[in-house]
Amino acid sequence: PFDVLVIGGGPAGAAAAIYAARKGIRTGVAAERFGGQVLDTMAIENFISVKETEGPKLATALEQHVREYEVDIMNLQRGTALTPAGDDGLVGITLENGAVLKSRTVILSTGARWRQMNVPGEDQYRNKGVAYCPHCDGPLFKGKRVAVVGGGNSGVEAAIDLAGLVSHVTLLEFDDKLRADEVLQKKLRSLGNVTIITSALTQEVLGDGQKVTGLVYKDRIGGDAHRIELEGIFVQIGLLPNTEWLKGAVALSPRGEIVIDDRGQTSVPGVFAAGDCTTVPYKQIIIAMGAGSTAALSAFDHLIRTSVP
Ligand code: FAD
Repeated sequence: PFDVLVIGGGPAGAAAAIYAARKGIRTGVAAERFGGQVLDTMAIENFISVKETEGPKLATALEQHVREYEVDIMNLQRGTALTPAGDDGLVGITLENGAVLKSRTVILSTGARWRQMNVPGEDQYRNKGVAYCPHCDGPLFKGKRVAVVGGGNSGVEAAIDLAGLVSHVTLLEFDDKLRADEVLQKKLRSLGNVTIITSALTQEVLGDGQKVTGLVYKDRIGGDAHRIELEGIFVQIGLLPNTEWLKGAVALSPRGEIVIDDRGQTSVPGVFAAGDCTTVPYKQIIIAMGAGSTAALSAFDHLIRTSVP
């Protein structure tokens, strides 16, 4: 069995594996796709001390760093169930292929995925004007026109944030009213360079083959289609944690995030979690790495306090 078994190979999982392996304990990582969301990212400019890098480059660096240590990397392996420790003191992780991995501690770092609009042009222009993370990509649109799709808290927060950087923000909401907290809506409405459109169904992302040039939405009341000329579209219709397989096994928040305390401990003894799949307030690479390190140190702490049965 492992001492520490990490499930997920993104920034959180890589950091957890390195911190665990550096304690000289048996460490494994099982990941569906080593690298995680970073593989889908182009420019990264907020990974502190690295002025600029690209996602695939950072993903390779993550894997190379983990491989410097004695870590058993099981790539292309998906966890499908977690069994709490019984009398043997070992937590079980069932993989899609039927195998069961056993470990004295487990660190869950399965990340999250942005909900997509699923309209023509969205995939084609992803990273070419279609963006999901205002903290990451906002500055790329300085002085340009953007839309934010989604009028919940994250959409309205994104619109307020972007309004300070870009020339104009159009906020599109499907419902006939915004769903964000009143205080955020009030702030949004006070801004001079923001237009709010409700009852808007996004239909298509327009582009010139290279980058985004506009967006088409349908007015759900009048029924007619409208076209907005712009350079960027921020999709803010939900971040879905990859935790469906943990339902019933580990305590999840109403949004499906793994509930952790400030040491990364979950509701199950010996099971820790880190990164975008958890209740951690902000979802960023540097934050996920810090959380992965915290979880590994907590797992080590748990190990030295628990005797092997
Ligand atoms: P992830 O990176 O999501 O990794 C999750 C890992 O778990 C993957 O290896 C995945 O395959 C695996 N996994 C999932 N389910 C299972 C399962 N059941 N069994 C086994 N393995 C599983 N952040 C920044 O700081 N700066 C940026 O510029 C930036 N740009 C971004 C651009 C885009 C397009 C996107 C999508 C995100 C961006 N982010 C950026 C956010 C950043 O990528 C995430 O915050 C970060 O990757 C989270 O790390 P993580 O390790 O928690 O999860």
